[in-house]
Amino acid sequence: MSERADLLIHARWIVPVEPADLVLEQHSIAINDGRILALLPQQQARQRYLAAKEVELPDHVLIPGLVNLHTHAAMNLLRGYADDLPLMRWLQEAIWPAEGKHISPGFVRDGTLLAAAEMLRGGVTTCNDMYFYPDAAAEAFDAIGLRAVVGMTITEFPTPYASDADDYLRKGLAARDRWRGHPRLGFSLAPHAPYTVADATLERISSIAGELEAPIHIHVQETSGEISDSLAAHGLRPLARLEKLGVLGPETIAVHSVHLDDSDIDRLARLHCNVAHCPTSNLKLASGIAPVPGLVEAGVNVGLGTDGAASNNRLDLFQEMRLAALLAKVSSQDAAALPAHQALRMATLNGARALGLDDRIGSLLPGKQADLCAVVLNDLNTRPCYDPVSHLVYVAGREQVSHVWIDGEARVNQGSALLQISDIELLRLSAVWQTKLVS
Ligand SMILES: [Zn+2]
Repeated sequence: MSERADLLIHARWIVPVEPADLVLEQHSIAINDGRILALLPQQQARQRYLAAKEVELPDHVLIPGLVNLHTHAAMNLLRGYADDLPLMRWLQEAIWPAEGKHISPGFVRDGTLLAAAEMLRGGVTTCNDMYFYPDAAAEAFDAIGLRAVVGMTITEFPTPYASDADDYLRKGLAARDRWRGHPRLGFSLAPHAPYTVADATLERISSIAGELEAPIHIHVQETSGEISDSLAAHGLRPLARLEKLGVLGPETIAVHSVHLDDSDIDRLARLHCNVAHCPTSNLKLASGIAPVPGLVEAGVNVGLGTDGAASNNRLDLFQEMRLAALLAKVSSQDAAALPAHQALRMATLNGARALGLDDRIGSLLPGKQADLCAVVLNDLNTRPCYDPVSHLVYVAGREQVSHVWIDGEARVNQGSALLQISDIELLRLSAVWQTKLVS
């Protein structure tokens, strides 16, 4: 007798990411109640399951939904607003003044909607976000159906959102309370960076993160200037200072981690920290190249992030996979560094692990949530195809994403149509804000 399933997807290839390096050919994935039931050969699947819906993917590779381990979603409204400046001038002369003038719950809701739509279309099913007005960001993620860890951003500096570190914390925790129990939304403590948050605040954040079992999401050692400034102000490198204040542990996501010496790498490995590698942003702001092969060799869990659209300027994890692989090779002068399977693992399971979500997402193991991305490899640009994982990293782009599911629910369908919101509405929101931002 047949077993029931909500959804049966038959794919040319399935790459479950766990077990490592496995490519299943002509297999199917059975899904029920939002979760993966089984992966099995197509013929067996058709005999064993009676599914409410079946989807045929004859030229596609099915992978876990991508995890964007670092972004500032609402900054989609600042895409291309200021380019070609180094980090500190870019922040101080362009981005912070614009934010001071324009940010509001409406800015964050609309910008986050645009970013979430862009990410979904590009196969991203989970993002780790850091911005102001977390409540408004959560509303947008909820409306469009993206899984997200929303940052409770904290700095010492006043913005229209909050007046000081206490105010940021209080407002962040209140937003977290309002969304508690949501099936797709979680919250992190998100101190902006060691150079914008004081010792006492960092110590408090560390103890709250421990109580709440929440990730700590922080920019770390993105530029060399941060290290010399920290040595002058504190007598310690930023990561050494964070260790002293109790901020570093398995729940910590150290974003960028570009300028690391051996003691930094040792510290990240010893304390089981995670790194969010954002290669495009690091290149565009001329920050440098993170020593990813060294981090991986030391055992640090490295995931991939896009950073915000103001410093990338695309929320495209395919681009980040490709760049991560290429930069790892050229920086180590070893063409075998960061092979394609490893780049895909960084963009999926490693990101999930950094967020403490690897028991639920990040690979296609039975029992996990059915967060899936299908990539079609049937045109001239993607043929011949000897190895679909090689193609995912070195050939394909987000334009090849054909279908996306989150919790087994279709979010992007055939031809990359978004199902939760119309393009017309998204373009209207974008036009309204562009007019406001240049006035
Ligand atoms: Zn960032």
